[in-house]
Amino acid sequence: MTQKLSSQHLFYAFSAKLEPAMRVDQGQEFTLETLDCFSGQIKNQDDLLDRLDWDNVNPATGPVYINGAKPGDILGIDILNITIGKDSRVVVAPGEGVPGSLISSMETVILQHKDNVLDFRGMAEIPVNPMVGVIGVAPREREIPNGTPEKHGGNMDCKVITKGCRVYFEVEVEGALMGCGDLHAAQGDGEIGVSGAETSGEVLLKTSVYPRLKGLPTPFLETQDMVATVYSAKTADEAVTGAVNNMVMFLTRFLQISENHAAMLMSMAGDLRFCQVVDPLKTVRFEFPKKVLPALDALHS
Ligand code: CA
Ligand code: ZN
Repeated sequence: MTQKLSSQHLFYAFSAKLEPAMRVDQGQEFTLETLDCFSGQIKNQDDLLDRLDWDNVNPATGPVYINGAKPGDILGIDILNITIGKDSRVVVAPGEGVPGSLISSMETVILQHKDNVLDFRGMAEIPVNPMVGVIGVAPREREIPNGTPEKHGGNMDCKVITKGCRVYFEVEVEGALMGCGDLHAAQGDGEIGVSGAETSGEVLLKTSVYPRLKGLPTPFLETQDMVATVYSAKTADEAVTGAVNNMVMFLTRFLQISENHAAMLMSMAGDLRFCQVVDPLKTVRFEFPKKVLPALDALHS
């Protein structure tokens, strides 16, 4: 039977000091049951952002100790499946999100999940794309609150992190101490209003260390069709530069393509996209399609 960790095993900051809540072998499938980013505090439309206990937001389930994962290793985490809860919630508030100056009152909308759409007040149907907002590993020295995205992962709010995606992190402490939470039933690139369709659920995962990928600029994503660098920084400009430069470094180091040619290929065939621009740091990704460079398919073999 698949090992499963219930959502009673929560943490609010990625840290080397946390006690492992579960230990798994590499290649072994396991399930993490997660709460939504408000820890279930927003149940109906009368629950507005000002009622929140802010000490209880962005819970992640874990941490999970990956047997054999050592500092400096590149850990790949496969998102094998995501099961979302029965409803989700989206919020706005004055001053929050990109259009915060145009928002005059707080509002919460609860969306029921039916089949593969979210019903928005009977006026719109949004396709479901279950994704993981918070996922990461423990940093060596500091404690990083789950609401912040950084090199260790955290609140990247990246809609590509869905079923079939592999997320790579550089391990910083023995066992990696990974965790995840903050599922979204749907979210657009940018998450401009400050929240996605926030929901609880379960994530089926599998992890492995990839010795050939030592030195990979992480966080790094791989799907069936593309690879992507992910970079978080104080400003969107800095995040753009970080994500682009990391892809250039990846292509030069792992595919022996010159910087000049990497820049040319990326300029013609790659896509720069926002993950989110509403968290303490902004997160940008640079996607490069596998079909343009067949060598990418053999990346980790
Ligand atoms: Ca989030
Ligand atoms: Zn969220």
